[in-house]
Amino acid sequence: MSFDSLGLMPELVRALSAQGYESPTAIQAEAIPLALAGHDLMGGAQTGTGKTAAFALPLLQRLAVTGPRSGPRKPRALVLVPTRELAVQVNDSLKAYGRHLRLGSATLFGGVGMQPQVDTLRRGVDILVACPGRLLDHLDQRSADLSQVELLVLDEADRMLDMGFLPSIKRVLAKLPDKRQTMLFSATFEDGIRKLALELLHEPRQVQV
Ligand code: AMP
Repeated sequence: MSFDSLGLMPELVRALSAQGYESPTAIQAEAIPLALAGHDLMGGAQTGTGKTAAFALPLLQRLAVTGPRSGPRKPRALVLVPTRELAVQVNDSLKAYGRHLRLGSATLFGGVGMQPQVDTLRRGVDILVACPGRLLDHLDQRSADLSQVELLVLDEADRMLDMGFLPSIKRVLAKLPDKRQTMLFSATFEDGIRKLALELLHEPRQVQV
């Protein structure tokens, strides 16, 4: 199986070769064609399975194919993550996979100053990788605008719920357009996650490894 045959564009396949990826992992082979076709996804996957690329590659391709909107650049994709470490890791992956595309991404997490993040948002980004609490701070002070988000990913959703982020996530969701593609990844599917998935996902396809 090749990344080509999953329907990924040459710019992405080239970046993956440079990363030393030879063939897709199981979750990538399942998730990528479904996500490229525009389906909502509910993914059951632990860290180490290649889940980041499973959502990052279709996310990059869908943004690259539809092209930027006119006017100031506002985020068109939002990836919610539980921790700053994961935010940095996901953003590094997006930058590596998207190196031949003209898309910009940035992280938002707490414990550091707001102003550099405000400046980055003002300059314009296509993809935001954010922890829910700090994203809410930006929404409250109107430095982030989520009105153009077409794609939402919740990564490690079970950890976000364990950390008490559900109320913050709900407040963020209220700021997003209803018409969007949503992917939810979680290692476990307890009742809380299922309930959130039901609220959030539209006719989701399930992928599991
Ligand atoms: P993740 O589960 O997303 O945290 O990824 C685990 C590790 O596997 C990361 O270091 C990725 O760079 C690597 N990885 C992801 N997909 C592939 C692939 N198809 N081939 C080789 N390595 C991969």
